[in-house]
Amino acid sequence: MKPHVVILGAGFGGLELASSLSEVHGDALAVTLIDRADHFIFGYSKLDVMFGKKTSDAVKLSYATLVKPGVRLVRETVTAIDPVARRVTTNAGVHDADYLVIALGADYDVSQTPGITLGKNELYSLAGAEHLRHVIPTFERGHAVIGVCHAPFKCPPAPSECALMLHDHLDKRGVRGACTITLVMPLPKPVPPSPETSDALLAAFAERGITFVPGKKVVGVEGERVKLDDGSELPCQLFLGVPRNRAPDVVVAAGLTKDGWVTIDQRTLETPHPRVWAIGDLANTGAPKAGVFAEAAAKTVAANITSLVRGEAPTAKYPGAGSCYIEVGGDKIARVVVDFFSGPKPTGTFHAPSLELRADKEQFGSTRRARWFGLH
Ligand SMILES: Cc1cc2nc3c(=O)[nH]c(=O)nc-3n(C[C@H](O)[C@H](O)[C@H](O)COP(=O)(O)OP(=O)(O)OC[C@H]3O[C@@H](n4cnc5c(N)ncnc54)[C@H](O)[C@@H]3O)c2cc1C
Repeated sequence: MKPHVVILGAGFGGLELASSLSEVHGDALAVTLIDRADHFIFGYSKLDVMFGKKTSDAVKLSYATLVKPGVRLVRETVTAIDPVARRVTTNAGVHDADYLVIALGADYDVSQTPGITLGKNELYSLAGAEHLRHVIPTFERGHAVIGVCHAPFKCPPAPSECALMLHDHLDKRGVRGACTITLVMPLPKPVPPSPETSDALLAAFAERGITFVPGKKVVGVEGERVKLDDGSELPCQLFLGVPRNRAPDVVVAAGLTKDGWVTIDQRTLETPHPRVWAIGDLANTGAPKAGVFAEAAAKTVAANITSLVRGEAPTAKYPGAGSCYIEVGGDKIARVVVDFFSGPKPTGTFHAPSLELRADKEQFGSTRRARWFGLH
């Protein structure tokens, strides 16, 4: 019998993990990769869809092209996880794992923010981005608010990117002068681990007349008013929201979470249950919720599963470091490299916006498309 690895979720983390294991072990391992969707999309593609730069169909990467030795991808919905027995129940049956990796990402919860509707006035789901793609071109006068409902949230730079891209969009249409843009977020700065990146973004906001409201959360939207957690309100004719992020119900029901996120050893990503790991957005990794971090976590777990399969002690440690591209408008892109574990506190290095970094970002996407989906 081949060792059986079951990976829940074929997102950033799950795709990299399946690819890494297939690369090293080929058919010698049986990897079952489970996802309820029929496609993957990069998180950043939602911004492209929302601002009409790409269509939804163009950014969907179909799982049909994922063919890898040893990997079986099944389209099923995970309904229960027993981490002690390493047994997963789906809408189609049961999977027993020798090694179980949970990579189901973060879900969105709008139950505590009245007036925010998934697929309508939020930019974090593809449905929301697709809806807003048709709404934004009709906005020509008044107040736009980009508002974050809770922290932590995926890709901390994304709301700042949205504000800068909205500025460009309105500017190109010749209506920027008739509109205001306000960005509300619970963080003290746009990218807290990198003061240089935060300063550059704050300077970009100031240059473009974008108002930054730090340290506050959106608690609801009522008519043309956005309500904040300090009791204040903002006028708003266009709301672009970042809903509360949380671990999926199925991992909460499995008793795997504390304070809303899956408990793990932050360096090995193992849960308290032997041979059960959690990677990516749903885990309390101590690092940001971003694809590059999910990918690094996947590489760590792949190395440790490889050691265990070979009867060796697992020694790989999650680096908690990675780099993110930041759209700053004008087709330029900046980059921040953050490192959460090397020093006494997180650090970040800023790379100034350039057109060359756009080429880098394209390359980032195309290497993953090739590695995970065989698309060249
Ligand atoms: C607007 C926006 C911009 C972003 N920009 C960037 C960026 O520039 N760089 C970056 O690194 N990150 C970015 N991100 C964040 C990035 O998309 C996520 O951090 C990353 O996808 C997390 O990977 P993951 O593997 O944890 O989860 P995901 O990639 O979300 O994958 C989870 C998978 O699990 C599946 N799933 C969930 N529940 C079930 C279930 N019950 N049964 C079966 N399958 C299930 C889902 O279908 C999904 O395929 C951005 C996100 C957003 C929203």
